[in-house]
Amino acid sequence: MTEEQKKGGELVKLLKEIYPEPYCALEHGGDPWRLLVMARLSAQCTDARVNEVSVGLFEKYPTAADMASADRGDVEKLIFSCGLYRMKAADVIGASRMICEKFGGEVPCDMDGLLSLPGVGRKIANLILGDVFGVPGIVADTHCIRICGRLGFYPEEKRDPSLTERVMSGVIDPPEQSDLCHRLVQFGRDVCHARAPECGSCPLRPICHHYENTEKNEKRNERNTSAQIR
Ligand code: SF4
Repeated sequence: MTEEQKKGGELVKLLKEIYPEPYCALEHGGDPWRLLVMARLSAQCTDARVNEVSVGLFEKYPTAADMASADRGDVEKLIFSCGLYRMKAADVIGASRMICEKFGGEVPCDMDGLLSLPGVGRKIANLILGDVFGVPGIVADTHCIRICGRLGFYPEEKRDPSLTERVMSGVIDPPEQSDLCHRLVQFGRDVCHARAPECGSCPLRPICHHYENTEKNEKRNERNTSAQIR
């Protein structure tokens, strides 16, 4: 086991202690098509808004077959408050049509099939694979990219989802990957915020590269200030 894999194990252990029961913030009820639609709607939108909007959307279009024949203008109206509504409506209708025409009405359960659907990239594909089909994967969303960079698994300034997925897939035990990503979302919202991470009270300090650097800089500054006073 490499040092990075040991650190990956430590990350899993610490986050499990904080969040014993991870969950997907999108309320999809275990339905892969609903998760696909909701994940597409969630781009640049909050999960809470997506959950709210999806109630009305799925009431009117409860299945992929219903969505496949939906009127685009109507879907746009229903999802308007999620933002980017034109593109998102085109994608959810397009993906639903392809699911019906090419996949017999079932969301494909493999990466290639998922990636062939409009609006589905590796982040959404890994989310569906992990949450519904039990296939391990790293969901490289904004929280995962930011936190794993701060922890030092790769340079903090890199904001590259493929790098995050590649590196983290190599250091996190596969059965832990999907749950870890849900925990990272929770942790990113509660503690390791994008703008002002709450490092002072953070339980990940012992394994955090960002914290180590900040602490070193603060000590250096303190030394410089006291030297100037003297
Ligand atoms: S110590 Fe700070 S930067 Fe590191 S994981 Fe915790 S909150 Fe994030």
